[in-house]
Amino acid sequence: MALDQETLNQLLDTVGRFVRDRLVPLEHQVAEDDAIPPHIVAEMRDLGLFGLSIPEEYGGLGLSMAEEVQVAFALGQTSPAFRSLIGTNNGIGSQGLVIDGTEAQKRHYLPKLAAGEMISAFALTEPEAGSDAGSLRTSARREGDHYVLNGTKRFITNAPHAGLFTVFARTDPASRDAKGVTAFLVEAGTPGVSVGPVDRKMGQKGSHTADVVFQDARVPAANILGGREGQGFRTAMKVLDRGRLHIGAVCVGVAERLIRDSLAYALDRQQFGQPIAEFQLVQAMLADSRTEAYAARCMVLETARQRDAGHDVGTEAACTKLFCSEMVGRVADRAVQIHGGAGYMAEYGVERFYRDVRLFRIYEGTSQIQQLVIARNMIRDAKSGR
Ligand SMILES: Cc1cc2nc3c(=O)[nH]c(=O)nc-3n(C[C@H](O)[C@H](O)[C@H](O)COP(=O)(O)OP(=O)(O)OC[C@H]3O[C@@H](n4cnc5c(N)ncnc54)[C@H](O)[C@@H]3O)c2cc1C
Repeated sequence: MALDQETLNQLLDTVGRFVRDRLVPLEHQVAEDDAIPPHIVAEMRDLGLFGLSIPEEYGGLGLSMAEEVQVAFALGQTSPAFRSLIGTNNGIGSQGLVIDGTEAQKRHYLPKLAAGEMISAFALTEPEAGSDAGSLRTSARREGDHYVLNGTKRFITNAPHAGLFTVFARTDPASRDAKGVTAFLVEAGTPGVSVGPVDRKMGQKGSHTADVVFQDARVPAANILGGREGQGFRTAMKVLDRGRLHIGAVCVGVAERLIRDSLAYALDRQQFGQPIAEFQLVQAMLADSRTEAYAARCMVLETARQRDAGHDVGTEAACTKLFCSEMVGRVADRAVQIHGGAGYMAEYGVERFYRDVRLFRIYEGTSQIQQLVIARNMIRDAKSGR
């Protein structure tokens, strides 16, 4: 449900203040410790951040897409690791349930996810199935009123903290493609489910990924997401459409933060007797970054509005994720350049953002996969005369 403008403004103000006063001062510590302090997680819960996109009837804030991306712009103004903790509950970890879950599944899980009492994770990728997720090998064999899951999932965000996994597994052993894939709701602690060691990553320290291994894990048939076999991949794709807009919005937020920091540095830093902001070559970098971030912001807002109006935004969401994630990479690169040697040093934090944003071009569909989706949809539309 869309909020009235005043309530939305209050929410954006509160999140903006929380980011500025509570999260930004902790960025360095979180990266050093590779952990978000528990009191900050508690504050995120109190603000309702775990339930932004979960409908109000299940305890969330029920934001529209256009509202959610504005919150993501605000959350993007700090280290992406903070957003990552709430990201799976609002995105890939809950939206399968919101979109395709049965009423009983929604009532059972969504209130806990919205309250942040339970962290969810989305387990699609495998060692041999990344971009080609439809070729996944994790198997789910029916035995009476249970399924027996076997396989390994890789790079699963929030796996070490998750209470609930949405797991994609092959229920039709004869199939080789997406049609034989079913989504299961699997609780952590189910015998036969284990989480591997935390992965050591390039960036986004404080956010954790790990393997999730299934060894004869017995899952009740009632835990098929949506109750029907063979629908899993369709659910995954619907979830990713929304996720692409959310990630695009986070990229815009990070870019705006980096531009602000770069401008402040350029106004302060003196060379050749004047602030480096006075040099036209530095101005060009600032102007290019500002222009691209503005274009990205407009793409996110317009696509979110179109989605809220009920239009199919598959193509536009892919365009947005592609442009925003590539854009923030260029902005981060220029931010390092504007900071000169200081940009390379850990003390200033710019190098940390440079590493953090690299991920956005890889997960929830690489840039190449976005290009394929966009071109495939263009060709489909041309053939059908759309
Ligand atoms: C930090 C992190 C968090 C993640 N979180 C999750 C998560 O929570 N849940 C989850 O399920 N997964 C998660 N992933 C996995 C992520 O979605 C995959 O890494 C991503 O989809 C790419 O798959 P891959 O790594 O197997 O690369 P590959 O698919 O092997 O791709 C390697 C390269 O080949 C290119 N390529 C592949 N196919 C084509 C093609 N047809 N045409 C052109 N180029 C192609 C790719 O674009 C890429 O450049 C996460 C990954 C990371 C790094």
